Amino acid sequence: MTAATLSLDPISSAIRPTKQDADQRYRYQHYIDGGFVDPASNAWLETSDPVTGEDWAWVARGDAADVERAVTAAHRAFSEGPWPALSASGRGALMRKLGDLITENADWLARVEMRDNGKLFAELSMQMRYMANYYYYYGGLADKIEGTVIPTDKPGVFNYTKPEPIGVVACIMPWNSPLPLTSLKLAPALAAGCTVVLKPSEFTSASLLEFVKLVEAAGFPKGVVNVITGYGAEVGDALISHPLVERIAFTGGPEAGRMINEKAARHMKRVTLELGGKSPNIIFDDAELDQAVKGAVAGIFAASGQTCVAGSRLLVQDTIHDAFVEQLKAFIADVRFGHPSDPATQVAPISTRPQLEKIKSYVEIAKSEGARLVAGGEPASVPGYPKGLFFKPTIFVDVKNGMRIAQEEVFGPVLSVIRFKDEDEAVRIANDTQFGLAAGIWTQSMRRALTMANRVRAGTVWVNNYRSTSTTSPFGGFKMSGVGREGGIAGIREYMETKSVWISTATDIPNPFIRR
Ligand code: NAD
Repeated sequence: MTAATLSLDPISSAIRPTKQDADQRYRYQHYIDGGFVDPASNAWLETSDPVTGEDWAWVARGDAADVERAVTAAHRAFSEGPWPALSASGRGALMRKLGDLITENADWLARVEMRDNGKLFAELSMQMRYMANYYYYYGGLADKIEGTVIPTDKPGVFNYTKPEPIGVVACIMPWNSPLPLTSLKLAPALAAGCTVVLKPSEFTSASLLEFVKLVEAAGFPKGVVNVITGYGAEVGDALISHPLVERIAFTGGPEAGRMINEKAARHMKRVTLELGGKSPNIIFDDAELDQAVKGAVAGIFAASGQTCVAGSRLLVQDTIHDAFVEQLKAFIADVRFGHPSDPATQVAPISTRPQLEKIKSYVEIAKSEGARLVAGGEPASVPGYPKGLFFKPTIFVDVKNGMRIAQEEVFGPVLSVIRFKDEDEAVRIANDTQFGLAAGIWTQSMRRALTMANRVRAGTVWVNNYRSTSTTSPFGGFKMSGVGREGGIAGIREYMETKSVWISTATDIPNPFIRR
């Protein structure tokens, strides 16, 4: 498949066409209570293609009035009607149907997402196919979350626990992986029996508004899944402050995460926060170096470094430092930039213009701090795409861990290489950060692998691989990288409350003035 043969038309789905204006631009409305609706204010924002620079669609610019409608619908669907009456097995069946629809429509979803965030079609297409597993896994789990009978020490009572859905959940997503990150929240929330209001990034809303058609086609009752779009300060803020929202599941930057955590605490709302990182990828001199080079590339240059788990600090043992950097430079010297739909393309554009500007500013910061640029450091001009937001894979050496370039998340293809002497120093540098999302360790020594995995403070540690994830495994951050876990059995527990039920088997209530 090449760029020339790949249709970019998001309405190719037969399920339900998206509105199109006379100028061919698509118009994405909110999805509330089972229907597509205009924003109350009739305000819209443009969404653009990072490869061509073309504004290709309008997206509803929501406000508090839209939030009110969506949360009210979600609350009604949670409290009455078919959804709370459905058994856990029934919820599982709907979710498996949704999984099948995702599989059938994976390429279509990938095309829409590619047009909004510019990620490689090859990766997106795989991601979308894999995404069906979230619904199969949590659909299967829905009727396996059991309560317990407690052997209490009080006589004449029968006490049991019962996990119950928490209520209306607000899910807020970033732009780098819109649908997979939505599914990490939506699938366990639905399996638990919650209802949801989804808020995608203002930069990448289209794919979720196409995806929700599959939710509808799978047969979920109206109001169970709602989507409202717009800016964080206008829609996101109103959503997290709404009194009927009981849990907030947020993936995004540390700043917004902190603000949301503070607001949620004021109203006792439960939170899951999946935030950023400055993850160490640690290369020991006993590693298989060819594989470790690929691991370093996967860590920072895949998806142009726009992943929360980016291995943006490359810690390289002194003894191999110079040779390893040369090998890495050689590996990226001839990377192929191009349209993300072209299978030959290795490096796609940065997703948004503000993000490109942020990357450029961090390159200047690194230079001013004394880090030495040995590769990249500037936008790439790609024939045929004069407005494309491409940036060259960038490597800085002589980085000290105290520098801003080693401490702050860039969220782009910018690698900071830091030397270390031995395990103790590697651990000290790796853990000397406010973050704790992920870490990579490259060694052939079993002892070293286990010791380092124990000593590095991060929610995910990869040994001799990088960026592997699975719906079956918990994912989340230590320290400023977040709160809570997504994925695995831990993931569904986040959407449930435990109720303890006491039933008296006694024939008489003893002295009511004394606690039993
Ligand atoms: P962002 O924090 O700017 O925005 C994320 C979402 O939050 C958007 O939908 C935005 O509209 C909304 N938002 C912003 N301010 C808000 C507010 N005050 N109230 C409510 N909602 C608000 O992040 P981004 O630039 O879209 O994404 C990049 C960030 O996401 C990076 O820091 C990256 O590390 C992080 N991320 C983390 C993970 C993870 O799983 N840990 C995964 C992917 C991305």
